[in-house]
Amino acid sequence: MNLDIKGKRALVCAASKGLGRACALALAEDGAALTIVARQRDALETAAEEIRAATGAAVQTVAADVTTAEGRALALAACPTPDILVNNAGGPPPGDFRDWTREDWIAALDASMLAPIEMIKATVDAMMARKFGRIVNITSSSVKAPIDVLGLSNGARSGLTGFVAGLARKTVGRNVTINNLLPGSFATDRLSATLQAAASMSGRTFETVEAEWRSRTPAGRFGDPMEFGRACAFLCSAHAGYITGQNLLLDGGAYPGTF
Ligand code: NAD
Repeated sequence: MNLDIKGKRALVCAASKGLGRACALALAEDGAALTIVARQRDALETAAEEIRAATGAAVQTVAADVTTAEGRALALAACPTPDILVNNAGGPPPGDFRDWTREDWIAALDASMLAPIEMIKATVDAMMARKFGRIVNITSSSVKAPIDVLGLSNGARSGLTGFVAGLARKTVGRNVTINNLLPGSFATDRLSATLQAAASMSGRTFETVEAEWRSRTPAGRFGDPMEFGRACAFLCSAHAGYITGQNLLLDGGAYPGTF
């Protein structure tokens, strides 16, 4: 399918690795012009080079932390009027709520709730004026079904979800959609770190926990990041203008509910 996003400007946050990189690559495959952001310059340049080589797309890079005001300003200076915005950042660390201080909670809210809201605030009005915009927030399946070691994520991401539910109904009349993509278990560095934490906290081996997580996913495997990237690209396509305010699980059937 032609996604009809050739030449659209896409700003993809936290895109040197994992799910963000896969979203950037999938958007580039369909002709979007990319600005990709991540903290580490080396990994970012490597990702940009790989995406250019694979797609021929224009890719500009911004080495910045999108959870800080300074980092967001750098990203927006490079791409002030994106047509497509993918909000993403590293997730909050795992742990036990008894150990978390107010500062830990504020950091989680800054990264997983307030940073994407600030990015939306900075870009959505111009999208509405141009009558095209696609915003995708990478959140987590933890919004639908909490993950015990990820209490900071369970809480902070729910705040973003509630905000987006309201705003998405106000922008769609101008062909600006806002949706959340909820990854289950995708084979990325982040998943390895989460599995390691779950293993340490339960006193089991990494291999035992990995096999358990894999087997309790009805698909019987972890997701391929490009499966996620291509779902994101579809939501950013010209054809997805009637989908807004949704929380779309990509989890290989792991969520057990009917709705
Ligand atoms: P990853 O660790 O593989 O990649 C994270 C990317 O984000 C890297 O490019 C890193 O450089 C960049 N990054 C991190 N923090 C940043 C910041 N503050 N500013 C700019 N760039 C930053 O992680 P992933 O698996 O791709 O996960 C992406 C998001 O999805 C995370 O929030 C994660 O919690 C969430 N998630 C992932 C899974 C999964 O199975 N992989 C499941 C649920 C939720």
